Amino acid sequence: MQSAQKDHRQDVGEALTSPVQGHLIDGELRAGADFYEVVNPATGRAFALCPSATQQDLDDAAAAARREAPAWRARSAEDRRALIADFADRMVAAAADIAPLLTQEHGKPLEQAKFELTVAAHHMKQLSAIPIGDEVLRDDEAKGRVLMRYHPLGVVGAIAPWNFPIALAMHKVAQALYTGNTLILKPSPFTPLATLAVAALARDVFPAGVINVIAGGNEFGAWMTSHPGIDKITFTGSTETGKKIMASASATLKRITLELGGNDAALVLDDADLDVVVPGLARSAFYNSGQICMATKRVYVADSLHDAFVERLAKAVEQHRLGDGMQANSTLGPLQNVVQFDKVKTYLAGAVARDGAQVKTGGQVSQDGGYFITPTIITGLDDDAPLVREEQFGPVLPVLRFTDVEDAVARINDSRFGLGASVWSRDVERALSVAERLNAGTVWVNRHGVNESEVPFGGMKDSGYGREHGQMGLRSYMELQVISLPPRA
Ligand code: NAD
Repeated sequence: MQSAQKDHRQDVGEALTSPVQGHLIDGELRAGADFYEVVNPATGRAFALCPSATQQDLDDAAAAARREAPAWRARSAEDRRALIADFADRMVAAAADIAPLLTQEHGKPLEQAKFELTVAAHHMKQLSAIPIGDEVLRDDEAKGRVLMRYHPLGVVGAIAPWNFPIALAMHKVAQALYTGNTLILKPSPFTPLATLAVAALARDVFPAGVINVIAGGNEFGAWMTSHPGIDKITFTGSTETGKKIMASASATLKRITLELGGNDAALVLDDADLDVVVPGLARSAFYNSGQICMATKRVYVADSLHDAFVERLAKAVEQHRLGDGMQANSTLGPLQNVVQFDKVKTYLAGAVARDGAQVKTGGQVSQDGGYFITPTIITGLDDDAPLVREEQFGPVLPVLRFTDVEDAVARINDSRFGLGASVWSRDVERALSVAERLNAGTVWVNRHGVNESEVPFGGMKDSGYGREHGQMGLRSYMELQVISLPPRA
C-alpha cells in the first residue's frame, strides 16, 4: 500500500477496478487478493487499482528466472535480438491502446505517452544491435594469446522510476535480455499500470520465466536488492535510494548500476546564438514538466545576454498549454505525484521569498486537487538557494548571471551532482574547451539532453555509479572472463 496515495474513493463514490490482469511471473499473469490505488495526478484522485505484490511473488519470479537462465544464455545473440525486436514491434502496435493508461497514471500529454512507447521500442532495437561479442586482447607469437570472453551475469533485477515509466524500464529490459540474462523488473508504485500492460505483450514473445514484471512498492525493491537469487541490480531513481541500494547489495556482492539524480547546468557563453539556445533550453528544462534526470535545472548566462535570454525564454514557455494530458490541446501535464508536487512547491516558495528573486513568468500552483505548477522562470537567486543547489525535478527554472567564465565553471562544479551539463556558444572550439572542465558524465554543446542508444550515459559524483547504453553499458550486464593461452606452436 502506498502511504503517499490517499484513498479518495469515498470522496467521489467511484468503484475502482484494475485495468491490468496482473504481474508477469513465470509466464503467467498473476494477481492476488490485494490491490492498491493508483492516483491520476491531473485530478489528485485514485482512478484504478493495481495488484499488490508479495515476497512470494519475488521468490517465484527469481526461481523461474534462475531456471530459465541457462537456456536463454545458450541462445545466440541474434536469436535474442529477434525476440526483443518482436516485443518492440508489439509495443508499437499497442501504443495507442496503452498510452491512455500511461497518461492517466503519469500525467503526461497523450501524444507524449504514445511517443514514449514508440521511442522505447526503437531504443530496444538499437540497444540490441550493438556488438557484444568476445574480443582478442592479444595474439602474440612471443607472449601468447589472451581472449576476453563476456558472459551473462545470470538474473538481473531492474528497478525503475516514475518519470518515464516505459522508456527507462524497457531500456533495462533490452540490455539485460540481449546480453543473455533473465530479468525481474519492478516499476515505480506511482506508475505501475502501463508497464504491466506492456508486460502482458512480452508474455507472448519470450519463454516463461525469462522476463518477469512485478509491480511492488519500495519495500519490494529492498527485497530485490538483498535477494540471493538476483545477480545484478540496475537502478534508475533518486540518489538517496541509490545509496540504500548500494549498501543493501553489498551483502550478496551484487553488481550494481545506479542512474541517479542530477542538477544539470546550462552555461550560455556571451557569443551564444539565442535562436538556438532559447528553443533548446525551453525544451530541455520543461519537457515532461521538468521531470527528467538530465533536464536543464539551472542556467548560467553571460551578463550581456541575460536579460534578452530571460525575456525570450519566458515568451517561449508561455506558449505551453498546461492541463490534463487526456485533453487534446495540453502540451504540459501536472507533476507526477503529490510528494513531488509538495517538493517543487517548497523549492518555489523558498526561492520566491529570497531577497532579489524575481518571478519572470509562471509561479502559479493549482489548488483544485491536480498537481499543476505553471512553467516558471526565476532570476536574481544566489548559488545557495535550494532551488539552485538541489534537484527540483519540476517546471521551475532558476536563471543566474555570470561575468567571468572561469568563475561560472567553478560555480557549476560546486555541486554534489554530476550527471549532465551543456555549453552554448557560436564558437564550438571555445565551447569544447569549457565543456571538458565541467564535472559531468555528459556535456552537450549547443544541445542538452540528447539520448542515444549507442552512447554510454551515466553520472559522476552523487549522480550515479557506472554507465548504461552503448557497448560499455551492455558490458555492465556481463562478466568478463579472461582466457590465457601460450603462443601458437
Ligand atoms: P525513487 O528513488 O524514489 O524510486 C525509484 C525506484 O526505487 C522506485 O521503483 C521505488 O519503488 C524504488 N525504491 C524505493 N526505495 C527503495 C529501496 N530502499 N530499495 C530498492 N528500491 C527502492 O526515485 P523516483 O522519485 O521514482 O525518481 C526520480 C529520481 O530519479 C530523480 O532523482 C531523477 O533524477 C532520477 N532519475 C535518474 C535518471 C538517470 O538516468 N540518472 C533517470 C530518470 C530519473
